[in-house]
Amino acid sequence: MDSIFIPPHGISLFITHDEHKSYYATLSDDIDSFPERYSDDRWISPDDKMKAIAENEIWTMQWYPVTPIGSHTIHASSLDVMNQFVRQIFKDEATAPDSEFVDDVCRCQSCRENGHD
Ligand SMILES: [Zn+2]
Repeated sequence: MDSIFIPPHGISLFITHDEHKSYYATLSDDIDSFPERYSDDRWISPDDKMKAIAENEIWTMQWYPVTPIGSHTIHASSLDVMNQFVRQIFKDEATAPDSEFVDDVCRCQSCRENGHD
């Protein structure tokens, strides 16, 4: 696997693996209990969400690019899939000579296309 791509972030970043298991819950139970944490727009695809539930395994990356009140969350069924996806949404920036976080603006694909909130 490629090395883990860490998005530029001005505040903080978390990588979590199977947090539900530390509560003796299945992923399916946790999604039912906390649907706001698992909204569809946070998954890399509907198929990958189904795979995660079937295998009871989830990897999550959450980062706060600019302020402590705005974050991105990505859920995936495996570390490899998560890493490929996050790398992809920064691919234009990742090929730039300097992809450091420099100007207090998140430069992921979503924020570049939709503006930052
Ligand atoms: Zn962003």
